[in-house]
Amino acid sequence: MSSNLYIPKSCKHCGNAFTARTTVTKYCGDTCAKKAYKARKRKEKIQATLTKDMQHQKEAAQIPNLNTVNNKDFLSVTEASQLIGVSRWTIQRMIQQGRLKAVPFGRKRIVARWQIENLFN
Ligand SMILES: [Zn+2]
Repeated sequence: MSSNLYIPKSCKHCGNAFTARTTVTKYCGDTCAKKAYKARKRKEKIQATLTKDMQHQKEAAQIPNLNTVNNKDFLSVTEASQLIGVSRWTIQRMIQQGRLKAVPFGRKRIVARWQIENLFN
């Protein structure tokens, strides 16, 4: 594309002043255009890695949730059910049957962890 335009610009990559022949030219030459392209690609790659890392961290953040349950001495009915991998209803039924002792704490019922461990003895 030929034109009679002479636009003074500074290269977006190296910052050198140059005369552009089109309004869309951003770089002083092919070298800078290529370098800028590579730099952009590298940036995209880093960004993609960062995004991936953040997803990993998100996933990892859900695991401590289970760890917390594993480290607790007293559990809510929901946590107790998560610990054994049964429904809340199963835990509640066991409480009603007297196989598990639950202590009311406000509106919640708390099950001691050793009670659950005792079931396996
Ligand atoms: Zn340049």
